[in-house]
Order: sequence, then C-alpha cells, then structure tokens
Amino acid sequence: MVSAVACVALVSGCAQTVSGIPTTLGGYSTTKVAGLPAANGPSGPKTDAPEPRLKVDGTDNGEMDELARNAVADVDDYWAETFPEVFSGKEFKPVKRLISYDSNAPGRPLCGKNSSHLVNAFYCPPEDLIAWDRGTLLPELKNNFGPMAVVTVLAHEMGHAVQNRAGTAKPDDPAIVLEQQADCFTGSYFRHVAEGDSKYFRVSTGTGLNEVMSVLNYIRDSPSVSNFTGGNAHGTAFDRVSAFQYGFDQGPDRCAGMDFDDVTKRTTLFQNWKPAQNETELPINDKSIEAVNESLHEVFRDTGAPEPKVTTDPTSCGDRQKTSPADYCAATNTISLDVSELREIAQPPSKDSDATGYGDFAAYAQIASRYALAVQKSAGFTLDDEAAGLRTACLVGAWSGLLVEDPIGQRNPVGKLRVLPDDIDEGVSALLGDESLIAANVKGEQVPVGFARVEAFRVGVQRGISPCTTKYVG
Ligand SMILES: [Zn+2]
Repeated sequence: MVSAVACVALVSGCAQTVSGIPTTLGGYSTTKVAGLPAANGPSGPKTDAPEPRLKVDGTDNGEMDELARNAVADVDDYWAETFPEVFSGKEFKPVKRLISYDSNAPGRPLCGKNSSHLVNAFYCPPEDLIAWDRGTLLPELKNNFGPMAVVTVLAHEMGHAVQNRAGTAKPDDPAIVLEQQADCFTGSYFRHVAEGDSKYFRVSTGTGLNEVMSVLNYIRDSPSVSNFTGGNAHGTAFDRVSAFQYGFDQGPDRCAGMDFDDVTKRTTLFQNWKPAQNETELPINDKSIEAVNESLHEVFRDTGAPEPKVTTDPTSCGDRQKTSPADYCAATNTISLDVSELREIAQPPSKDSDATGYGDFAAYAQIASRYALAVQKSAGFTLDDEAAGLRTACLVGAWSGLLVEDPIGQRNPVGKLRVLPDDIDEGVSALLGDESLIAANVKGEQVPVGFARVEAFRVGVQRGISPCTTKYVG
C-alpha cells in the first residue's frame, strides 16, 4: 500500500525528458542508471511485438492474459540466453504450465489451493507452473502502476522458476532468501529490457524503473512458494528494491550469490521479526519534533556541525522561495517547518482514500533532510546542486539506519527514537515520489532518477555517514 500511493503520483509524471548536467559524482551519476543513460521515454508493450506460441490454460484470450503471456515469453527468451552463461552451460527449460484464472469465478484446484478469491500470481514448485489471477490482481496492477507492473510480477515468479532450475536456493533457506533472489533476477531481466533488447517491451530508466520499483512491495506470493520453504517473509520494500537494484546493476551472478549469509547481513527485516503490539505512529507535535531533532543531533554530533535552530514560526530566507514541508535557511542556520503539511505526509498511506500520506517516518525524514543540509554546509559543501540532493538522501539514510532497532536484537537504536523496518519503507516510497525532500537539495530539487535516490539512501542506511560525503562530490 505504501508503494501504491507513491506510484499514483508517478504515473502523472510520464513522458518528459530528463534534464541535467552530465556529471559523475564520485562514481555515482545522476544522469545514468547503473551505466545506462537516464531517460523518461515511454514504457510498456512494443507495438511490433511478436505473437508468442505459449499455451495458457484457462485463458479468456483477453488483454490481461495477452500481457501476461507476452511477459512470460519475453522472460523465457531472456533466460534461454542468459541461464547457460550464468549456470555453467545448463539449458533453460520453460515452465511446464501457465494457468490463467479469475479469482471472482467459482474456484478450481490450483497447486493445492482453491482459486476462488485467490488474488495472486505465483510459481508452484511441485508442479512447475505459473498461475495468475486475471480477474482482480492483473487489472489492479495495470491500473495502479501501468502495464509494466504485470511484467514485473511475472518476471519475479519466473525468478522462482529460475532458482528452482539452477538450485540457487537450499531447501532449508528461509523464504526471504528466495524472495531476494527472485527480485534480483527481476532486476537483471529489466536491465535487458532497459537496454532495448526485449522484443516485447520497453522501459525507461527514469519514471519507468521508478514504477517497476514501486510495484515490488505490492507483490505477494501465494502460500505455495512459502510452503516450499516453511517461511513467509518477503522482506521490506527497502530490501526488495535493493535486491532489484543489485540484479539490474550487477547481473544474475550477483543474484545467484544471494545466500543465507548475504541476506542475513543485508536485509532490514529478517526471519520472524514482528513489530510489538503497542507500536504506534508518532503524531506530529512539538514533543515528537523535539525527539527527532535530538536524534539528529546525536547522530550527526561527531561531524561537528552547529545544531540548526528548528522553528514552526513563519520565517523568511532572503529572496529564495521556501521549500515545503520543511525549509533550510543556510544564512541563519534555521530549519522552518510547516506542521500542517507535515501532518499530511504523516498520514498512513491508504488505497481507499484520497490522502497523499506516506506515514509518520516519511514526514520526519523531511525534517532530517533539511538537517542534513546543515551538516553539509558546515562541511563546506554546496547545497544547491544535484550532488547535494544525493548527499542529503545518503545522510537521511544514515540517520534512519542508526535508528533501526536490529530485528535480531543485536543493536539498540541511537537516541530515544525507534524506527521499524516498515518506517524505512515509507522513506523509500517517498523517495520514489515526485515531491519529497528526502533526496532534494536546498532548493527542493531532486535528481530525476529514482534509482539513484534510492541507491544513495541505501548507501547511508547500510554504511553510515562517511560515504555520503566522499562518494557524492559534485
Ligand atoms: Zn516471490
């Protein structure tokens, strides 16, 4: 749901070209996406796509099934070529059966389940089949995220077929290992599409990939895959997007190497960790703002940056137009907040209302982003270029990462504030949206490529403050 809200904002931002000065920021580029040029061209099915000869059981020959079938055909093509290269010459065999069903229709047995009300798409290992719900799931994905959402889901399910064939998952691996691999394989497939090598689809590296990353959190496998492993964790949106980015950037070898150890080290949500019953959203008020401020001061104390003044009073900052819901004025080292705007962002995301919120953490991350500018100013960095936006995302990530209580309980968060992995997801959703300050410079400008924003945020979460000021240098 968190992702769904982000994407509604994204869909309206299609079909513009990305502007920006071609710069390489210490190896991190704002005009390239993992080495490909950043562009916001069209994404979706190609008009000259071939007609695949794939049999779909139960099909109604409608639009959804055509899209799903073409997606499977395309992912088949990709793995037919790639699988032998990655898995020592082994040939890739297509899945045995494809099944379309309508979750609104009377049920039929499917991989040990009943298809009635099964709003899902899944790979069934014992029967080596992929099934999808053309009645509710696929139309919902397409309406909310665009046609590439359907392709994303099927590429993910094919990722499970790939790991089954390659033996990259051990029978006792927890489900999150399988999910990380499948998301990573999805990323490596999308690299192929983004490079223009797909016969069926194209995806732009700007908004196109933003949408694909937004949909990842929306996918839920049926229990059949979970039964395969005896676990249930899909990972947080942050983990899922990270796995996708690794696959896109580093290719299927990286995915094949995602084992128990790698996943344990990297993921924010591991094994059966669950939030405590009494967890509540932190309301936006003076007390919470003070707590956030204290946590920021604590996290960034060692940088020696003078603590900025935080105010909810009306302020001005010379002639410059202020950013909302938070503004950083370098001249006076003051952060001014628009509390009612912050409250809107802090609304829990909801599919059923017009609310534009991402959740409480997303609101507090806006404040943190302006605090990160004060840290940068003190270190002598410019605040108004693209590098400043990525440094900001990285520093907000560092702050967030230090507030996460380790799910295995090995680490206590810094300060009094406690952040849950779900909160980090609110930050990722906001990062993929159009209006957030989390990856924005002092003027409120974000780098156009969501991929780069999320990556910078992740560098901060995983590696702390120091890479933020060494990697993202204008
Ligand atoms: Zn899965």
